[in-house]
Amino acid sequence: MKSSPSIAKLNSRSVIAPVAVPKASDVLAGRLRDLIIQGHFSPGEFLPSERDLVTQSGLSRTSVRDALRVLESEGLIAVKAGRAGGSMVTLPGRESVARSVELFVRSHGIRLASLLECRVAVEPTLARLAAQRRTPSQLEEITRIHERFVASVDDVPRYKRLNLDWHLAIARASGNEPLTALMEAISAPIRDAMDYQHVTTSELRRAAVKAHTVILKAIEEQDDEAAFKRMDRHVSAYRDVATRPNLITAPTTA
Ligand SMILES: [Zn+2]
Repeated sequence: MKSSPSIAKLNSRSVIAPVAVPKASDVLAGRLRDLIIQGHFSPGEFLPSERDLVTQSGLSRTSVRDALRVLESEGLIAVKAGRAGGSMVTLPGRESVARSVELFVRSHGIRLASLLECRVAVEPTLARLAAQRRTPSQLEEITRIHERFVASVDDVPRYKRLNLDWHLAIARASGNEPLTALMEAISAPIRDAMDYQHVTTSELRRAAVKAHTVILKAIEEQDDEAAFKRMDRHVSAYRDVATRPNLITAPTTA
């Protein structure tokens, strides 16, 4: 067995390492979290009241409140005020994953090049899955956004917004929740970075329209390999142009 660093620090007269005592509120939060995740409480149901939790756990009111605050910050409960209030179980949705990843990306100053590599890794797979699984109404949505995108080619702010909407509609049609959450999370930081760094040109926007047209066709025909390859070509080309050093004119958003 390897000795832990804290053991190594012991002087010759010590027999035990310092003991880290977990906070009571963290222990209670952990138990309640497990109960929620295991389905003992369904979304919409209420946890026992603050008073009952004090009685059941034997902890102070402050510890119980701190534990509930932890669960609230994790998006596992929503605290409702008033007579019929309490701690309502609310399973975190995709947007909470997106929020955490986005916060991570922004607070760590993740570079645009890394975000674009992430897209290249994820989007071709999303396109392949969308080709396999899209429902008629999802195909209709992707097609409708595409038509508006084509018509907005000379209206840059609108074009950029519709471009993003289109890529996210394909992500949702993949039916893969974690990958969709990841796409949603990195889309906003990419869009902001591109707005800041680059201008777009008419040629590049027209090239993107062409690329989107062939990807859409593959998704429509449920040709999953073509959808993968064409999306890969589209987002890889975009990454190459966007991360080129000494960029003078820049790409359209991919
Ligand atoms: Zn695109």
